[in-house]
Amino acid sequence: MTKLVFGNQKMYINKEEVLGIVEMLKTIENRDNIVMFPSYPFLEYYKDVVRFGSQDVSAYLKGAYTGEVSVSQIKSLGASCSIVGHSECRKNHNETIETLRNKITLLLENDITPVFCIGESLEEYEKNTTLEVIYNQISSVFDGLNNLDNVIIAYEPVWAIGTGKTPTNEEIDSTIGNIKNYVKDKYGVNDIVLYGGSVSPKNIEELNKIDNVDGYLIGGSSSIKDELKYIIEKCI
Ligand code: PEP
Repeated sequence: MTKLVFGNQKMYINKEEVLGIVEMLKTIENRDNIVMFPSYPFLEYYKDVVRFGSQDVSAYLKGAYTGEVSVSQIKSLGASCSIVGHSECRKNHNETIETLRNKITLLLENDITPVFCIGESLEEYEKNTTLEVIYNQISSVFDGLNNLDNVIIAYEPVWAIGTGKTPTNEEIDSTIGNIKNYVKDKYGVNDIVLYGGSVSPKNIEELNKIDNVDGYLIGGSSSIKDELKYIIEKCI
């Protein structure tokens, strides 16, 4: 059983800790299923070690956009993916549907895989509206776009991110199964679907029992060398 391990290191660590993680990764024999998402300045440290990508990307191709980083810039460093629509970006940057559509379009046009994050809030979960919410998050961005089979979807319940809480295995299995059926029926694509939200050494063996999960988008534990190593070893 192999699961993909995608590490979103957010803004947690500095150069020395990143380099420690790079050295740890070099000791792992089969690294094909690992993709790391460090902060922009550290992208190249993962080059020739594992696949890597950015945590976000500009919705514009080029120009006077101070502080932004474009698809072609990450591509020129060797990135193969970018996260799009992480709940922290949606909230902190007030991302609109149009912004998300532009980012995914530019990524696909430049052969960079978007890792598109979706997920319900605690209130939506408690009201039992998870599927309605995530179908809407998918369709509002996917409708009218092409090459959607090259998108990876990360199902990340917002209430599970960084909280130590997760849905039950049955809930994750059912939600991801429904996401797969939805994109297959509506867009004719078989997208890879990851689970994200408080994945850690404590729950990885339990989560690995879920068939529908193709892998994980891991936040906190991907910045802690020993935790990441433990998770990777359980997923190879
Ligand atoms: C994330 O930010 O994508 C995430 C899943 O975070 P954590 O693993 O820390 O919950």
